[in-house]
Amino acid sequence: MIFRRTICSSKWALASSLCLSALTFSHHGMAQTTLSPEALVAQGLAAGKDYPGLSRICAIDQPLRDITARKSSSGNKKRTLTDEQRAEREKRSYIEPQQVFDNLYFVGNRSVASWVIKTSEGLILLDAMNTNRQAEEIIAAGIKQLGMDPNEIRYLIIAHAHGDHYGGQEYLVKSFQPRVVMSDADWQELEKPEPEIINPKWGKAPTRDVTINDGDVIELGDTKVQLYVTPGHTLGTISLIFPVKDGQQTHMAALWGGTGLNFGPNIERLQMYTDSAARFKALADSHDVDVFLSNHPTIDNSVERMPALQQRQVGQPHPFVDANATNAFALLRDCSLARVVKISNYQDRVQKNSATTAN
Ligand SMILES: [Zn+2]
Repeated sequence: MIFRRTICSSKWALASSLCLSALTFSHHGMAQTTLSPEALVAQGLAAGKDYPGLSRICAIDQPLRDITARKSSSGNKKRTLTDEQRAEREKRSYIEPQQVFDNLYFVGNRSVASWVIKTSEGLILLDAMNTNRQAEEIIAAGIKQLGMDPNEIRYLIIAHAHGDHYGGQEYLVKSFQPRVVMSDADWQELEKPEPEIINPKWGKAPTRDVTINDGDVIELGDTKVQLYVTPGHTLGTISLIFPVKDGQQTHMAALWGGTGLNFGPNIERLQMYTDSAARFKALADSHDVDVFLSNHPTIDNSVERMPALQQRQVGQPHPFVDANATNAFALLRDCSLARVVKISNYQDRVQKNSATTAN
């Protein structure tokens, strides 16, 4: 394993060099704007028009859900499904394991993806789905079905500390002994006596193994995967940039490791999310990224793009390749910033009203 620090410049240098009309960055790197929330949403949706799975981030008229607040509510009770119900649910969410690029494979279902990066020295797996059962029946079985050996998994990178991404790790670690990779902030989250978000259907959380820092690289055989810490969805969400091959062509993929704004109307977290999206867009642009990916196949439209790939004829373009792929991060940046502006406008109004009342 070779970890190399590739980003030595100041944390916000790249974001600060972004120069968009009506969207600037202060010396702290905070995205600032003079646009209204509605104008930001319109700008974000226009930029991300080819990624409709992201548009839910722009629904600023919907209240922001805080899933951390559900800890003791009845919504957190384990629901026991009958075998029949479970089989029906699995059938509905089934996606055939498949090759998406020469060195990239999808094993997952409609709700959550695991991506397999094949290198000359073994496999790098991103995410472990919800449960040990899924890890065995979908991830490991899918890898075998695709003609690979799960014993070759060298790294399990967990994009963030939510159990739909780590829940199957115990089976994978016991069966195939990969190194488990997370960021320090998200290891810390799992080391708390009671993590922020816990769902009884998820498998066991991993124990700290490899901790990566922003800008680290995992190098395995012929492949380098660049890892960035993009706080927002969680405080230590990892996003990745890595090469994908299509015949003679090499493209660059950028995978956003955590998308939902499911932490409630928390202006600091929203601002953090905006800044991470702005910075990751700049990083992706500087690496000539032309493939946008997520770890949820409805979010990055893999659900639509994979059948299109199956239909692809010789000489046709690859449906995952998009010269404007990094506009997905412009949508995430602008629509999360719209929330920031909306909340801060609201706070200003409340403050003004209470001042008037006091007078
Ligand atoms: Zn999550």
